[in-house]
Amino acid sequence: MDFDVTPEQEAIREATRRFAQERLAPGYQAREGEARIDRDLLREMGSLGLIGADLPEALGGGGEASVTAGIVMEEVARADFNIAYVQLLASLNGSIVAAHASPSLAQDVVSRLCRGEILLALGLTEPGAGSDAANLQLRARPSSGGFVLDGEKTSISLAEQAEEIIVLARSGEPDARAAGVSAFLVAMDSPGVTTSHFDDVGAKVVGRGSVFLDGVEVPAERLLGKQGQGFRQVMHGFDFSRALIGLQCLAPARASLDETWSFVQERQAFGLPIAKYQGVTEPLAEAETLLEAARLLCYETLWLRDAGRRHTRQAAMCKWWAPKVAFDVIHDCLLIHGHQGYSSELPHQQRLRDVLGLQIGDGTAQIQKMIIARERVGKLAVPYA
Ligand SMILES: Cc1cc2nc3c(=O)[nH]c(=O)nc-3n(C[C@H](O)[C@H](O)[C@H](O)COP(=O)(O)OP(=O)(O)OC[C@H]3O[C@@H](n4cnc5c(N)ncnc54)[C@H](O)[C@@H]3O)c2cc1C
Repeated sequence: MDFDVTPEQEAIREATRRFAQERLAPGYQAREGEARIDRDLLREMGSLGLIGADLPEALGGGGEASVTAGIVMEEVARADFNIAYVQLLASLNGSIVAAHASPSLAQDVVSRLCRGEILLALGLTEPGAGSDAANLQLRARPSSGGFVLDGEKTSISLAEQAEEIIVLARSGEPDARAAGVSAFLVAMDSPGVTTSHFDDVGAKVVGRGSVFLDGVEVPAERLLGKQGQGFRQVMHGFDFSRALIGLQCLAPARASLDETWSFVQERQAFGLPIAKYQGVTEPLAEAETLLEAARLLCYETLWLRDAGRRHTRQAAMCKWWAPKVAFDVIHDCLLIHGHQGYSSELPHQQRLRDVLGLQIGDGTAQIQKMIIARERVGKLAVPYA
């Protein structure tokens, strides 16, 4: 262990690693062809306490620190980046439901989420509102029993697999921006909900698509928190998910790097192992440096969260930098494997395609840099948002 964790956290790391290396790593590439999350694996992870490690114990979560959730994330993602979306989305979306749903709804949904019985998606992005998320237009109108939702969410992870989705909808005036947005928990089998499929280059096991809501009746008790508070609730969660995403991307890069160190000691060129050539080892040494630095930034962010200290700036740094570092490191590892690296027999090409999406999902690098600037100089940096 290379930074300060408790013996309990170390034990959780060991147990997660054993499960991940035995049950997840061997099927990482084969699962890409199935293009869905294996529900038996999901329930198995739930029974081992590997989903929602940080969610409240009273609701079926692990009640652990954010750092512990990071440890679980790292170990799962090292074995299978795509399965680690389960941990990511359970922690992000589960914490919104745990904090803002009625006690009975939170108990029902979060406990099933942590047992691996359901998947919970997040519906924020719309065709006309990505980076400018507060511009969303999906409409929520009051009805006799609650609300009626109409509109489209797009680019939604797990769109075709989730049982439930948190939908951000405009319940106030269009020009109220973030203040007019409310969050709703919508069952994906509600009448009026349909989905479409995106043909992505990576993360095929998770899948992405649009979710169309056509006159969908949502009972009043499925409004999460107060009307007009939805945007703030979700943005608060991003300070957590961005550090987890950093670790999720760095972990497969670490796997590629470790495999590449082994390869360069065995592969011979010009009569010598290629590890003899500094042109080969220098990018690997740089990769070691970048992976260590980015990983520590992610853990620092989680540690600040556990200490109740502000970490928006650090979370944005994790989000723009770690996925890029991961992509660049895996790219170098693939190239150092020569022609073998380009083959689908080795995992580097899949890791490269899989991590790429998280340079965009949860906010692009440009938007994260805007957040960092805003944390330093306030509204001056982003007067329009
Ligand atoms: C793998 C993946 C998973 C995703 N999962 C989900 C999900 O589960 N739920 C969900 O709601 N959404 C999800 N998304 C959507 C994601 O959050 C958006 O794609 C992202 O916020 C960017 O929005 P956009 O694609 O509309 O790009 P746009 O907002 O159209 O931006 C296009 C380009 O312009 C740049 N840009 C925009 N504004 C500025 C500015 N002011 N300054 C500088 N540059 C700017 C952006 O950085 C980007 O490069 C996912 C996306 C991906 C790729």
